[in-house]
Amino acid sequence: MNKKDKGINTICTHVGQLEDKQYKGAVSPLYMSSSYAFDDVAVKRYPRYFNTPNQEGLSKKIAALEHAESALIFGSGMAAVSTSLMAFLRAGDHVILQQTLYGGTYNLITEEFSKYGIEYTFTEGWEPKDFEAKLKENTKVIYIETPSNPLLTITDLEGVVRIAKKYGLISMIDNTFASPINQNPIDFGIDVVLHSATKYMGGHSDICAGAVASTAEYIEQIFHLAKNFGGSLSDYTVWLLERSIKTMGLRVKAQNENALTMANFLNDLGDIATVYYPGLSSHKDHDIAKKQMKGFGGMLSFELKPHLDASLFQKSLKLIKPSMSLAGVESTVLSPTQTSHALMTPEVRVGQGISDGLIRFSVGIEEPEDLMEDIEQALTHIKTKNPISADN
Ligand SMILES: *Cc1c(COP(=O)(O)O)cnc(C)c1O
Repeated sequence: MNKKDKGINTICTHVGQLEDKQYKGAVSPLYMSSSYAFDDVAVKRYPRYFNTPNQEGLSKKIAALEHAESALIFGSGMAAVSTSLMAFLRAGDHVILQQTLYGGTYNLITEEFSKYGIEYTFTEGWEPKDFEAKLKENTKVIYIETPSNPLLTITDLEGVVRIAKKYGLISMIDNTFASPINQNPIDFGIDVVLHSATKYMGGHSDICAGAVASTAEYIEQIFHLAKNFGGSLSDYTVWLLERSIKTMGLRVKAQNENALTMANFLNDLGDIATVYYPGLSSHKDHDIAKKQMKGFGGMLSFELKPHLDASLFQKSLKLIKPSMSLAGVESTVLSPTQTSHALMTPEVRVGQGISDGLIRFSVGIEEPEDLMEDIEQALTHIKTKNPISADN
């Protein structure tokens, strides 16, 4: 099948599917073997070599979704992020990282990199010039995340690629929040695309996995470290993830629509101070988002007016559950200050615009009317418990 000619849902459903020659079943057979005969010495199959039949099949699907030559699947998003970064960096090298990254990535860099003699600098802004400003003689990699967590800031892919090409740097992106349905960074010239497959690829809050997609050459380089680090994914979970991805296009389309509806709804509510969603024309990066995204995603953030108790608000929701993680079919909320960004100092958080009252909203596939009703009843509840005048 020529994957370039096919629609996104066709790719999600069919690419990389393994054929059940024995029984002609409709889905990929699951090969759980951790031991394969090596009569064909060219292919030594082993789960930690990332080349079991199910791993190879799913890698093809992910590569096709990201318009990449090749891909690898990992045991977690952080295994994909750490292995891929370390594959291109050695002692004495320098990496430029976008300000405001996923909390786990921030921890990896600030807690581990100096042990390995790898230098790093976070940018002070999101514009291409902010990346160029941090350039050093020994800079090797430029690392971005867009839309970013939790404020949904958008980084200009073309601008970052221009700088990477000018100075011969490898450009890497964490594309988790967009998913391959909404954004394909390789089309803009980004070299390496990372995913926490725990999120939109999995989509049902029951899988932890990661992925990287890139050129065959870069994937080979990442693979060499990956087999030594040993962060492969079990075939059973690979098989589940393949099943999940079949509906990713449908899920993400519904989540895009719901998130826009909810962003507009929250924006019109008197109790909300700010809504951050790249699909709103009021979002500071809306124009860049329109240029590089096919949909604006299912993630948004908002701040209640300061006199309202954000923590009590989250506890008062009935349908929408306060929860770690994101991107499931069910809507969830989370306080970045208390969870994903808890290890940052309050100064760093404030510097990045992450207030204590900020609520991150992962919009699911429920009917938006039900989500609106839940938010309205929670607001009514906290206002009657906290009867402070609402005119400030
Ligand atoms: C969750 C997440 C990760 C880490 O993925 P895990 O599967 O939890 O290891 C990395 N980046 C982003 C943007 C994420 O949301």
